Amino acid sequence: MKVKVIPVLEDNYMYLIIEEHTREAVAVDVAVPKRLLEITAREEVSLTTVLTTHHHWDHTRGNAELAHLRPGLEVMGADERICALTRRLSHGEELRFGAIHVRCLLTPGHTTGHMSYFLWEDECPDPPALFSGDALSVAGCGWHLEDTAQQMYQSLAKILGTLPPQTKVFCGHEHTLSNLEFAQKVEPCNNHVQAKLSWAQKRDDDDIPTVPSTLGEELLYNPFLRVTEDPVREFTGQVAPAQVLEVLCRERARFQLALEPLQPQVRALLALQWGLLSTPQEK
Ligand SMILES: [Zn+2]
Repeated sequence: MKVKVIPVLEDNYMYLIIEEHTREAVAVDVAVPKRLLEITAREEVSLTTVLTTHHHWDHTRGNAELAHLRPGLEVMGADERICALTRRLSHGEELRFGAIHVRCLLTPGHTTGHMSYFLWEDECPDPPALFSGDALSVAGCGWHLEDTAQQMYQSLAKILGTLPPQTKVFCGHEHTLSNLEFAQKVEPCNNHVQAKLSWAQKRDDDDIPTVPSTLGEELLYNPFLRVTEDPVREFTGQVAPAQVLEVLCRERARFQLALEPLQPQVRALLALQWGLLSTPQEK
C-alpha cells in the first residue's frame, strides 16, 4: 500500500491510498478534486472510493464535484451530513480494496459521526495506517464540538489508543507545531515533547509535512492521550480522565486564541463553545 500525502491550502491534508497490485485508489477527505485527479492520472490508478472522516466543509468540500467528474464513485462515511454520501458506514464494519483491509472505527468527540479508518494489507510487512481526520492529530486532537469529553475519552483512549503502537497516523491538519508548543506548556519536563518540537520546527522551516507519526510516538508526547499521567493531571487540576480531557481542551482553545487572534465572529463562537465567556445558560 502506498499513501500519497496531499497538502491543501494552509493546513489541510487529503490522502490517496494506492493498492499497488490492482492499481485501485481510495481517497480520504477530498478537498480539491482536480488536483486529486491529476495525481490519479499520473500514477495510472483507478479511483473508486472516497472515505470521509466527518462532515465538516474542509474535509468534504470536493465530494460533489468529484462525484460529478467520476460517475459511479462511492463516497463513504458515517454521517448523513456528508456531502454526496453514497454509503453510510457503521462502527466495526470492514471494507476491502484488493489486498487492503479497512476497519471503520467510529470516534465521536469532534463530531457525532466522526469515522476513523484503520488499514492494513495482506502479506505486507508495512505497519498498519490510521486515517484519523480530526479525532487525533500529531500531538493533539480536534476540539470536541458535538459530543462530551467522556465520549471523546472513549474514542481516544479505548478505540484509537489501543491500536498497535507501530500504526502510522495520518491526520486531517498540519497543527503539529502549535500542538507541541501547547504540549510543552502541559508537560515542560517531557523530553519526548521537546525532541518532537525541535524536529517539527525543522520540518516547518523546510516546509515538509509532519505526517505520519506513529501511535507509539503519540502516546509519549500527545497530552490528549496522556490524561492519566501525573504531570497532565497536575496541569489540569483534575484526576478523572474525562475531566482532565475537558480542561485540556479548554486550555488548548485558550492557548490558540492567545497565539493567533481570530476574526471577531470566530473568536466569539469559539469563546462560547469553550466556555471562555459566561453565558446566561451557564448561570
Ligand atoms: Zn472538523
